[in-house]
Amino acid sequence: MFLSINGLAKSFGTNEVLKNIDVEVEKGEVLSIIGPSGSGKTTLLRCINALEHPDKGIFTFQDGFNLNFDNKISKQEILRLRRKSGMVFQSYNLFPHKTAFENVIEGPLIVQKRKKAEVKQLAENLLEKVGLKDKMNLYPYQLSGGQQQRVGIARALAMEPELMLFDEPTSALDPELIGEVLTVIRDLAKEDWTMVFVTHEIQFAGEVSDKVLFMDGGYIVEQGSPEEVLKSPKEKRTQQFLQRIL
Ligand code: ADP
Repeated sequence: MFLSINGLAKSFGTNEVLKNIDVEVEKGEVLSIIGPSGSGKTTLLRCINALEHPDKGIFTFQDGFNLNFDNKISKQEILRLRRKSGMVFQSYNLFPHKTAFENVIEGPLIVQKRKKAEVKQLAENLLEKVGLKDKMNLYPYQLSGGQQQRVGIARALAMEPELMLFDEPTSALDPELIGEVLTVIRDLAKEDWTMVFVTHEIQFAGEVSDKVLFMDGGYIVEQGSPEEVLKSPKEKRTQQFLQRIL
């Protein structure tokens, strides 16, 4: 098991957003999280990437690293948790004053302090992988939403995280630009990346996922293979959600 999360809870004020969540992610697995808006999907991803601080919960990684949020957690531990994963955001979050290439090299060069020649090569390879080598010197405002999101993916990959997190990566895109981003994600899924993917693209989730998890109201209502959860869901709430959106 790459990561086990047990008893994760998170509130914002009196709003209990995650309630006793247990999740397991296997190495090389693609896990999709679906569910209605406001059910806690993004907050769960943000807890995994240490962008939110859980109130409770135990994170256990395969390599022996573990964190119990009942205890006081040090800054170093938070940083170590953050470095485990790379996040791709709904709204790309690129640096607007940097080119595609500069966006990709920033993390490995400045945060990881890797050698410039090595990082340059890595960035070129990654921009080629997402089909943007010829656009590497353009600024975000010169790129379409789909191209910006592909830079966002290359930037997350450049940190060589053990886990890739995608927070509704296509939800801000015009329909005709969704396909190019899903193609990149499909290729990563084939390459054995360990990925957690929050999405409204149910059909795509069914195609690329090893496991699908349905959340509602801060709980995991149901999880299993795509066939189990998407084709023959057991729980009424899952059935209703799928009927509404399919
Ligand atoms: P989803 O991704 O399933 O749409 P979210 O995790 O974004 O759900 O949100 C779950 C709930 O948490 C919502 O009620 C939302 O308003 C609330 N929430 C999320 N982030 C914050 C925050 N930073 N401060 C206060 N409330 C938040």
